Amino acid sequence: MTSTTQYLSVLHRLRPTASLQRFLITAFTCLSAIACDSAPTSETSSGPKIVTTFLPVHLFTKAVVGDTGQVDILISPGKEVHDYQATPEDAKLLAQADILVENGLGMEAFLSDLVANAGNSELQQIDSSKGIEAMDGEHGHDEHGHDEHKHDEHKHDEHKHDEHKHDEHGHDEHGHDEHGHGHHHPEGNPHVWLDPVLAQQQVANIRDRLIEIDPDNADSYRSNAEAYIQQLQQLDSEFKEKLAPVQGCNFITFHDAFGHLAQRYGLQQEAIVHIPEDSITPQDIQRVQQLAKQHSVKALFTEPGIEDKRIEQISSDLNLSLEAINPLESGETDPQYYFQVMRSNLEALSRACQNN
Ligand SMILES: [Zn+2]
Repeated sequence: MTSTTQYLSVLHRLRPTASLQRFLITAFTCLSAIACDSAPTSETSSGPKIVTTFLPVHLFTKAVVGDTGQVDILISPGKEVHDYQATPEDAKLLAQADILVENGLGMEAFLSDLVANAGNSELQQIDSSKGIEAMDGEHGHDEHGHDEHKHDEHKHDEHKHDEHKHDEHGHDEHGHDEHGHGHHHPEGNPHVWLDPVLAQQQVANIRDRLIEIDPDNADSYRSNAEAYIQQLQQLDSEFKEKLAPVQGCNFITFHDAFGHLAQRYGLQQEAIVHIPEDSITPQDIQRVQQLAKQHSVKALFTEPGIEDKRIEQISSDLNLSLEAINPLESGETDPQYYFQVMRSNLEALSRACQNN
């Protein structure tokens, strides 16, 4: 457990005391009133126990939940997300949870086995990317739109175990092979949270399912979600405005995370590797160099925490400046952290595309 989640747990343990105080105050007031037409609300203590899978979906869920419930995170920031192996503690956490929120689109390949192991028949699942047609993972083109749509129709909640069994084994046993250049996320590139427009849909999905599951707190979920969606709309406007002058800018990232963002704002992303665990092969370097020759590549980006001499080598070979952009797979757990990182990503993209 990270210090942040420990801190959160402490906060949540304190809540029943606060609501007990409110209850006593309300009860006392009612004694002297002629009629008490509303029962004391205890929305903070009655809120659901929610577990999210990893950072972006954690930020979005916390933004919607606010003070209403407890929100924990399965993959604590700093742990690798793409090839995550669930632990017995994760199963314990899910066994005690009311709601599980996932990014979806195949990002959390470990999840269906974990949910089965947790044995919590009451657990409600929220797929935050429900209805989003993700682009193909490879190079930002959308050839596989129809396949993904088909998959969406058999959506997650009810049929999860059967439907995803095949994926699970693929990832667990053959993770690296699967993620080679012939990689496929059968459901499309899952990095939808990096597109401020798709992020709005994720927040709305989380809101709608929370309202279904916990209608008592609907008003709070609605107003929290609205505030966060407004911020995402503002962010989208800033991206549009800042990236308009660099339309068509072709950039290379370390891992294949920014395709949705690129497509949204008229840029082109190529990636050195598919997922961060992949090691950079001579073929990757050759492919990137060819791409740089074919297209006019403007920028090369690494990621925070990735130090690989081969990226520096590519940068100097291609005479491209090297900056970092952050795929938000790790970081701080305050919902506002999303905007901080996305604005700094925007600055880096805009600067690199203009300067080269
Ligand atoms: Zn990723």
